[in-house]
Amino acid sequence: MPKYVYDFIEGDRGRADLLGGKGANLSEMTRLGLPVPPGFTISTDACRAYLATGAPPDGLFAEVNAHLRDVEARLDRRLGDPRDPLLLAVRSGGRYSMPGMMDTVLDIGLNDSTVGGLAAHSGDARFAWDSYRRLIQMFGRTVHGLPAEDFERELEALRATAGPAGPNAEQLRDLVETYKKIFAAQVGHEFPQAPHEQLYLAIRSVFESWNSQRARLYRHQEHIPDDLGTAVNIMAMVFGNLGPNSGTGVAFTRDPASGAPGVYGDYLANAQGEDVVAGIRNTVGLPELARIDPVSYRRLLEIMATLERHYRDLCDIEFTIERGRLWMLQTRVGKRTAAAAFVIAAQLVDEGLITLDEALHRVTGAQLAQLMFPAFDLAGAPRPLAVGLGASPGAAVGRVVFDSAAAEAADGPVILVRRETNPDDLPGMIASAGVLTSRGGKTSHAAVVARGMGRTCVCGADALRIDAERGEFTVGDRVVRAGEVVSIDGMTGKVYPGELPVRPSPVARYLAGELAPEADPLVVAVHRLLGHADAVRRLGVRANADSGADARLARRLGATGIGLCRTEHMFLGARRELVERLILAEGPDEVTAALDALLPLQRADFVEILTAMDGLPVTIRLIDPPLHEFLPPLHELTARVARAEARGEDPGRDGRLLRAVRRMHEANPMLGLRGVRLGLMIPGLFAMQVRAIAEAAAQRRRDGGDPRPEIMVPLVGDVRELRAVRAEIEPVLAGVPDAPEILLGTMIEVPRAALTAGEIAGAAHFFSFGTNDLTQTVWAFSRDDVEGSFFDAYLERGILELSPFERIDPVGVGRLVRLAVAEGRAAQPKLTIGVCGEHGGDPDSIAFFADAGVDYVSCSPYRVPIARLAAGRAAV
Ligand code: PEP
Ligand code: MG
Repeated sequence: MPKYVYDFIEGDRGRADLLGGKGANLSEMTRLGLPVPPGFTISTDACRAYLATGAPPDGLFAEVNAHLRDVEARLDRRLGDPRDPLLLAVRSGGRYSMPGMMDTVLDIGLNDSTVGGLAAHSGDARFAWDSYRRLIQMFGRTVHGLPAEDFERELEALRATAGPAGPNAEQLRDLVETYKKIFAAQVGHEFPQAPHEQLYLAIRSVFESWNSQRARLYRHQEHIPDDLGTAVNIMAMVFGNLGPNSGTGVAFTRDPASGAPGVYGDYLANAQGEDVVAGIRNTVGLPELARIDPVSYRRLLEIMATLERHYRDLCDIEFTIERGRLWMLQTRVGKRTAAAAFVIAAQLVDEGLITLDEALHRVTGAQLAQLMFPAFDLAGAPRPLAVGLGASPGAAVGRVVFDSAAAEAADGPVILVRRETNPDDLPGMIASAGVLTSRGGKTSHAAVVARGMGRTCVCGADALRIDAERGEFTVGDRVVRAGEVVSIDGMTGKVYPGELPVRPSPVARYLAGELAPEADPLVVAVHRLLGHADAVRRLGVRANADSGADARLARRLGATGIGLCRTEHMFLGARRELVERLILAEGPDEVTAALDALLPLQRADFVEILTAMDGLPVTIRLIDPPLHEFLPPLHELTARVARAEARGEDPGRDGRLLRAVRRMHEANPMLGLRGVRLGLMIPGLFAMQVRAIAEAAAQRRRDGGDPRPEIMVPLVGDVRELRAVRAEIEPVLAGVPDAPEILLGTMIEVPRAALTAGEIAGAAHFFSFGTNDLTQTVWAFSRDDVEGSFFDAYLERGILELSPFERIDPVGVGRLVRLAVAEGRAAQPKLTIGVCGEHGGDPDSIAFFADAGVDYVSCSPYRVPIARLAAGRAAV
């Protein structure tokens, strides 16, 4: 017969999978000799068995009864004893905390005969009848789903007539009669009088509450698996509502908001825990307890110190004082803000409780990310206009504009509001303080580009009806016109009307070198932990940057090189016309002229970037996207040409462009003429870029610099493609005097490249995984479309837990990564291997890449500190 029930003395905190978090910690406290009311835990195994069949597993209640007899023996009280009844609390508690999502039933064991025993034994009839009415109400709500208001209404009516001292025992007895009638009328039978039956029904309802709608929703949001089940904790009741020397409270061993040491918490005299939640009376600060009950207070402080030393972390605690006797009802390692996480970890190192390695595991990259952005001061903030997805964090305030031109022309900060963005919006995004879209998810163009630039972005705020032509958007009947000020929060996705005050981030100022590390406790903590991460990490951290400004920023933030410089970004804006010239060129002379015009511009860009990254590697990727991305959209051109023709004019250049767009149209451009294919099909294009790189490096050398460019070829699927490119560009490199040796490598971003990595390694100095395209091609998910399409449904149905574009899919895409690392290295042991897709800045993905044995990750400049921390965590 499997064992389903564990006395608190049998478990320990290492068994949270089996006993749930609450049960495991109750066990731990019991073992520590702390005052925990006697009790036991029904395991999550039992819950899973119940949920699978709809019935309690064989023998469960017999086991419960055996443990109950132990508790009765220890307390010398029995469940259902009319003279001096034992009462029980039945509480849920899964592996992960799901606050308030599942059920609790207190005061089990009260009925028409035991209520008298409780009154006699406690000497407080009022308390006994109040407990009975609480049981009927809680039991009715949790076991039978009765609406709380039906009971609350009666209680409120009684309170209103009872006067300041509250209802007396007789009134409460009458209320119990009323409650029993409500119960019977709604449920169809009398309130169960048999205490064991009450207990079994409560246990079943806790099991079932695992699958309540709100519990499922919470798990979905928090990425908690649906198949874990909850444990059930059954404990002797202790009462905080037995008069002025009783009470209940919560305590934290440090401030969970700032991390500051001290005593934090709340206390409510003469109350049960549920009264605190209900907010019937105001709690007092925990230090008040020192005055109310100094003995219990001192004991509580001792216990808090014991728990903190034992758990070596911030603990939060729920306790009850019953007539001057302190009882611990719960403890756990407490939730905290991002700032407190860093401060506490550093403090615990100073106090000798944990090592620096352990401290790294107490903080996360996501927390550091939060701390790097300015935040709104929300005191007195108006209600948000709309809520979208927090796609790129920060707090941006500005006047609303609806297009790039207006953003560029504006005086002062603006928020660019678009239905969605495309590469044409880039200048506008650069000119804006923040970007707000009504469509698209976290990997939409707006989100990816904004994150890359460190612009605040809220996307997919689908309540917005944007009418760019009229220069306004509406939310319901509220109209916001161009020029009005809005505030957008890239962390929470909230959009506020008007200007909210912004608090700058001290961490960002420190990372940018504007603030000394001693500036405040948070900055001190970040400085220490990041320093330790750098000392222990094996993964290098480079940046994705394509301008001198970004390269300088990345270097300040700790990047040791550039892992991806996307050269096509240098062809936007005013230079787009030069690309158009190339596309429209007829005959080799026109092609050469167009390329010659681009060459000096590219060279100047590279000089700036190589200067910023002097002495560090700069991986420059040859042009990747299909060329028609540089042409105006088909519908726009068609309209322009049609208008010209209607006026009887020659559409001229527009006509040629339109023919080119039609000629170059592809049904699947992402699988079309792009990357290495483009380089091979337009002779001279790659050669021009390579010459610009080599000449820039030569110039830097002549100027006394130490340029280390590397050339990277995109979208290679076959080693012969790479060889063909080398054959074209090696003579170019050889022909540039003073150029340093330039390494030549390839992206691994299509499955075939990964599968033939051994062959490809023979023709490459390095690999860099383009995990964006690799994810796109392995899953056959269009990276530009999925977010607004079926992803939400996939996430909701549990087919995906997270977008594979956000976090690397370790099973499928990751398998190809591991294979390519192994086969690439087997063929060429010195091969350097990096990652430059978006995943290079995602902490969980970084842990995967560290394990897969890559040499470095590359991410947007603002994510560099996050990647440094994540790489440190992966190493300890
Ligand atoms: C990639 O595909 O992961 C990559 C880095 O290239 P891009 O995002 O420019 O396609
Ligand atoms: Mg790519």
